[in-house]
Amino acid sequence: EPRALAAALAEAVERAGGVIRARSRVQALTVDRDRVTGVRLAGGELLPADSVVVAAGAWSAKLEGLPVSARVPVRPVKGQILRLRDPRGPGLVNRTIRTPDAYLVPRPDGGYVLGASVEERGWDSAPTAGGVFELIRDLSEVIPGVLELEIGEIGVGLRPGSPDNLPSIGPGLMAGLHWATGHYRNGILLTPLTADLMAAALVGEPLPEWATAVDPRRFARLEAAR
Ligand SMILES: Cc1cc2nc3c(=O)[nH]c(=O)nc-3n(C[C@H](O)[C@H](O)[C@H](O)COP(=O)(O)OP(=O)(O)OC[C@H]3O[C@@H](n4cnc5c(N)ncnc54)[C@H](O)[C@@H]3O)c2cc1C
Repeated sequence: EPRALAAALAEAVERAGGVIRARSRVQALTVDRDRVTGVRLAGGELLPADSVVVAAGAWSAKLEGLPVSARVPVRPVKGQILRLRDPRGPGLVNRTIRTPDAYLVPRPDGGYVLGASVEERGWDSAPTAGGVFELIRDLSEVIPGVLELEIGEIGVGLRPGSPDNLPSIGPGLMAGLHWATGHYRNGILLTPLTADLMAAALVGEPLPEWATAVDPRRFARLEAAR
């Protein structure tokens, strides 16, 4: 349950002494020569930092301040998802059902999550009749009882997609710059792995060999090789 996970993570950060500045929009990263020195908030406040982790999802490549060559390519990939509920309580299905185009996740209270569309529509985040129709059509072919469920919520999100569909986790091209973005369809699933890798990177530990696959600097190397 991603909402419960996010709330638990926020509480864990605060219990560990971290400070969360909710609803504070970062306008730009501040840079001194070839080092990132902090961030500037939209209201103008400067927050100096030895290390900055860019984890702004689909918006990660839009932050001002970085030279274009130091940015990681991330684009928005729209996803529509339905939260449904069964007024008769749980029991329609007891485990996650996957079809080629949709999935249904039961919650203990008779709620269900039916997801998810994958749409290349730029920054458009409007819920659409077509998106909802296709999700219900695809899943109801396998579980007709879905048609009896009540619609609780239509959710729309923008996933951070990358050119190779892999995330970017670890140090960037400038001193003090780190990335944790581009998780596309698996950002919730990859939370523990991302946290382990970021923690190691921030204290300067060597990263495991497999982490080269998610090295944020791979895009610059590809560009240089062209
Ligand atoms: C419909 C749908 C279904 C999904 N299902 C799954 C699933 O089943 N399993 C799974 O693992 N993943 C799933 N995902 C993918 C998952 O949600 C993403 O991979 C994950 O949310 C990416 O996390 P993130 O923190 O990088 O980005 P986000 O969750 O997008 O968070 C980025 C945050 O940065 C904030 N931000 C942006 N710009 C700024 C700024 N300038 N200043 C301050 N804050 C800023 C945004 O407001 C946002 O809160 C799904 C996504 C969608 C849309």
